[in-house]
Order: sequence, then C-alpha cells, then structure tokens
Amino acid sequence: MNFSTDIKYLKGVGSARAEAFQRLSVGTVGALLRFYPRAYEDWSAVYPIREAPFDTNICVKGIVCDTPSKIRIPGGTTLYKTSITDGQGLINLTFFNNKYIPNMLKSGEEYYFFGKITKSKFGGREMASPVFSNASAEAGIKPVYPQTAGLNSKLIAKCVKNALDSIEEIPESLPSEIIAENSLCSLDFAIRNIHFPESYEALDKARNRLIFEELFILQLGLLSLKSKTQTLKTECVVKKDFSEEFFSHLPFSPTSAQVKAVGEAIGDMKSGEPMNRLLQGDVGSGKTAVAAALIYTCVKNGWQCAMMAPTEVLAEQHLRTFEKFFKDTDITVDIITGSMKKSEKNLAKQRLASGETKLIIGTHALIQEDVEFNRLGLVITDEQHRFGVAQRSSFAAKGDNPHIFVMSATPIPRTLAMIMYGDLNVSVLDELPPGRKDVETFCVDTSYHERIYKYIKKHLDAGLQGYIVCPLVEEGEIDNDLISAEKYYKKLSSSEFANYKLGLLHGKMRPREKDEVMRKFSSGEIQLLIATVVIEVGVDVPNAAIMVIENAERFGLSQLHQLRGRIGRGSEKSTCVLVSDAKGEEAKQRFDTMCSTSDGFKIANVDLEMRGPGDFFGKRQHGLPKLRLADVMTDTHLLMAAQNCAQNVIAKDKALSSEENRRLRRQVDTLFKDSYGS
Ligand code: ADP
Ligand code: MG
Repeated sequence: MNFSTDIKYLKGVGSARAEAFQRLSVGTVGALLRFYPRAYEDWSAVYPIREAPFDTNICVKGIVCDTPSKIRIPGGTTLYKTSITDGQGLINLTFFNNKYIPNMLKSGEEYYFFGKITKSKFGGREMASPVFSNASAEAGIKPVYPQTAGLNSKLIAKCVKNALDSIEEIPESLPSEIIAENSLCSLDFAIRNIHFPESYEALDKARNRLIFEELFILQLGLLSLKSKTQTLKTECVVKKDFSEEFFSHLPFSPTSAQVKAVGEAIGDMKSGEPMNRLLQGDVGSGKTAVAAALIYTCVKNGWQCAMMAPTEVLAEQHLRTFEKFFKDTDITVDIITGSMKKSEKNLAKQRLASGETKLIIGTHALIQEDVEFNRLGLVITDEQHRFGVAQRSSFAAKGDNPHIFVMSATPIPRTLAMIMYGDLNVSVLDELPPGRKDVETFCVDTSYHERIYKYIKKHLDAGLQGYIVCPLVEEGEIDNDLISAEKYYKKLSSSEFANYKLGLLHGKMRPREKDEVMRKFSSGEIQLLIATVVIEVGVDVPNAAIMVIENAERFGLSQLHQLRGRIGRGSEKSTCVLVSDAKGEEAKQRFDTMCSTSDGFKIANVDLEMRGPGDFFGKRQHGLPKLRLADVMTDTHLLMAAQNCAQNVIAKDKALSSEENRRLRRQVDTLFKDSYGS
C-alpha cells in the first residue's frame, strides 16, 4: 500500500464508499492522507462535571444513569432523554429523532461526551445531542472532517487511521536543506499529527510544516511562470517615451503616482522582454489615463494596442473615453464586441488586420474570435480579477509576445497580492486625483424612502445626476420583497419621478440598448439611472453625485465599495445611501465599515476577514490553486519564508529539473493542473 494505491483497496472502503470519496476528490490513499480535518474536538482534556465551563465545546466523562427514555412531542419530534454522572455532578442529556440512542447508550456504562453544557431553567446542567464514545476508547484530540453523503466524519477518520496503520513511513517531499533551514518537522510526522495529533504542540508543528509546504509549492509555481515569461523575447521594443507629450494634451496634469506607473511600464517595454505588469489602483485613481499614456507611446512607436474590458458597457465607455483622449491625434480607435453584426465585425477585423486601426477595444470576444493584428504590441486588460490568470496567458498567445498590462480596481491586501500576482510586477496608484471629496455614506431602513426620494430630487433639480442600484433584474427571480430594477423603474417613472428623466440599465438588456442608455446618461439626457450591478465596474460619469443602493445587505463589501466609486468623481459633494432592513450583527458591521471609511484597502481587509479569500474573489475567479490549510491573512510569516526559499530554489534551478527538485516539479504540476488546464 502506498500513496498512489486506489482508495477502494483500503480496508473499510470498497467500491461504494470509493465513489463517495470521489465526491470529495479523494481517489487514492495519498489523496486521503492529504484530506485534512477541518477542525478538531478536544477529548483530551476531560472536565469534572461540576467544573466544566458552560456554552463551549468540552469533554466530560460520565456513567449513564438510566436507559434513555422516549418522549414524543407535538410536531413529530421524538426526544430521548437520560442523565449522566461522574459521582460529583449530573448532566441531563437530550437527543432528537435518533431511535438508536437507547441501544448505543447503556445504563451503568461509562462514556466520554463531547459538546456544550448549558444551564437549564431550573439551574441544572444540560447537554443537547453530544457526541459520545465508549470510555474504554482512546480519547485525545479528534479530527473533524468535511462530510459528504455516505461519508460522515467518524467514518473518514476510521479510513484515515487504517491508511496510516497500513502505510510505511511517508517519504519526505521537501529537500533536506529546506527542512533544516526552516526547522520543519518531517512529512511523516506532519501527516500523522494533522489527522491524529499527539498534542497541541504536535498539531502546531504539523500545521506549520504543511502550510509552509503549500505556500512554498504555490510560490515555486508562480515564480516559474514568471521566469518563463521573463526569458521570452519580444519584437516590440519601445524606443521613445511619448507619455509627456500625451499628458500635455490632457485638461489635467497627471498625479505623481500616474507618472510613476507610466514610467515603470515604459521601462518594461523598452527592455526587449515582454512586460507583465499589474496596475493596482482604487476606484477613481485614474487608471484609464495611465493606459492611454501607454497606448499613445506604443502607437507612436509603430505598434497596435488592444484594450479588453469585462463587459460591453465598459468597452463602449472606453471607446468614448479613448476617442476623446485621442481626438487631436492620428490614432484610430475601433471596437469589436460579441454582439456586433457580423458584417460590422468583419469590417472592424479588416481595418485591424490592415493596420489602419491602432487601438482596438473589446470584451473577451477579442480572444475568442479569429481576430488578426497587423503589429500587436500591447494588450491591456481592465478590471483584471474578472478575467483570471488563465485567460490572461491565452491572450498573450495572440500576438508575438505582446506586452501585457492588467489593471485592477479591487484593492487587494498585500499578502494576497503577493500570492496572486507572484508572477507579475506590480505598480500601485496610491494617490487620488486632487479635489476628490469623500463620498458621505449613510445607512437607513426602508421607512426612509420618502425622504430619500426628496433628497434625490433636490440633487436632480440642481442639475446633478444619480443612481439607484437594485440587486435584481426581473420580478420573481428570488424573494419578492427584493426590489427589482425593472419594476422599480416603472413604479418611479409613473409616480414620484414622473417629471424627471429616468433610465433603466440591467444585464439582460441587449448590448445596443445598454449602450444607448449609458450614452444618454453620460450626456445628461437621463437624470436618474435605475440599474443593477452592471454599473459596478468602471462607469465614469462625474456629474453623478448621489447613489442609493437598495437591499444593500445583498451586496458584498467590496462590491458596495466599487458601486460607491461611481460617484464622488466630480467637484460636487457626493452622497451614498445604503437602504436595508437587515438586522444581523454581520450586516451592521459591514454597513458601519462602509459609513466610516472610503479606504478601499481597509474595506477589502474587513471583507476578507469576514468572508475568507475564496468568497472574496468570487468562485475561483482569480484562477489560483485552492489552498487547503494556508490562510493568506494570518500566515504572512510563513508566506514570506516560503517565498524566500522558493526564490532561492528557482535561482539555482529555473526548470526544477535537477534530481532533487524533480519531486517539487511534480507537486507544482499537480497543484496548478486544475487552475491552468494544462
Ligand atoms: P479608475 O481608476 O477607477 O478607472 P478612471 O480612470 O475612470 O478611474 O478616472 C476617474 C476620473 O478621474 C476620470 O473622470 C478621469 O478623467 C479623472 N482623472 C484621471 N486622472 C486625473 C488627474 N490626474 N487629475 C484629474 N482628474 C483625473
Ligand atoms: Mg476604470
């Protein structure tokens, strides 16, 4: 029996359970041993009943006083009640709907019980549905595994135990110097103790080692991706920097952060190696102008550029913005989107292939379609986290190693940026254009609607514009008390706002209609836009000074921040009103955060703490491998150490091809397999 043995040959498994294990992505004995507990129950510290603390999970040992008795209560529930004692204290136990309890708990026998003790109305002690095991069994720290149909935690624990018993020493996976340098325990010790810890100290050691390994392999993978792109050569070498010339055409002067970012990117593009750079800047920090300066420079050096946006609305907006930026130049701008007529698209493709078009703007249609370039030099992707790492590299394959510049508004905490963008160089816009005022933010409940409408009208009457954001598109999609954009639009245009010009924008509209609405809103023809999150990214209408977000509890914190970033872009003071009847502690904390800060970094950190990195980026949108144990928020220290070691290894053996590194190469490949589809 070894790591690659099929799980169905493991004692206690068989083919039915093997199938259930497949649902947990566990197909081999090795995968089972790498299937770590999600938590532990401490059965090692056994409390005397009278000293056991209330309301926290603990373990007690006691003799069952009577055979559990059955009590039916109205509503179809059946209770089983008994009590236990350790000679000093007594606890009443209740189990629900489990007819096996009388067989499993024998009167007069001794068991361990694990769970929460609560105080009863009459001052006694109670435990509801504790987990128990016979007192003759081993106590200790017990693993709790993620369960699935047909496999509960206890059963998984048993299988893991069988695997550990039948496997010989688990061979070491890390080079010995790295083990020594970082005072790590062996893989054998780590695996045995992550499942069945001898003590908390041993568990700590095991976790430490496994988290280190996970981050180390991840960093190795990212660094080798990076070194791959860096050893590439590109034809596209920028000879002369035209950014100053470009900025001199603008109605504003660039911030020093913008100048610095442009300088860094142009430095890359002069080098002869393809640029691979991320521009990170909070909403409104002026990323588009940075992109424009790079495009201007590239085109003046004789190259074509492509700009990709995550939505058609955004692509259309970019088209307008760049046409404005380049209106007094000879730079021709064009667009290709999925919804264009075939004939139009073909014409656009021809103009691009002939070299007539210098800047092409589009959505992901640009990668999917057989778009041909004449001399592609630079690809810019806006709002990068929506694309993911894999798509980024597939675009790179389009041209002859074009420069890649990605822009992200999601303020990513440093630790996470280090992981996610380990294969990129990073520039940061840490300064907002001058004259920006914080958006004042309030949170109110739905009883305030009258007042809110009045407040909006005051803005519209003063010549300003505004947004009302709703979470849904159509009626009846989820809960009916959620406000649907369509219904809301109809209601408001025929009542409170009958005398104003309203517009509706949602994801199910045809791109052409969306574009029409956005154009009217930009030009001021529409005063108040009722919209869904379609407007979340990038939309830029400086005259909009008020935003009302309905059912605000439905949005994530970072999403609220992005939405709010649509206002506060002009010289007027802007106001954001979050409307929600949600009462919970979590909702309150989120709204408090929104009302008290406009710092995207702080907000991202709170969001990350509350939701964890998986949720934070949506369903694996970042395209990174899934980490089992490491927590990027708290394991900073190990992350640094792992990155350091990974750099040393890669510096000596870029391809991980030496005898001792081959094993690492395989681990890297396994980890990255799912995310990169290779
Ligand atoms: P984001 O980083 O969110 O994409 P944008 O590029 O849309 O931000 O810029 C937001 C607004 O700020 C735009 O209206 C843009 O014209 C303006 N802007 C950009 N840079 C400057 C600057 N240096 N000074 C003044 N306004 C600027
Ligand atoms: Mg933008």
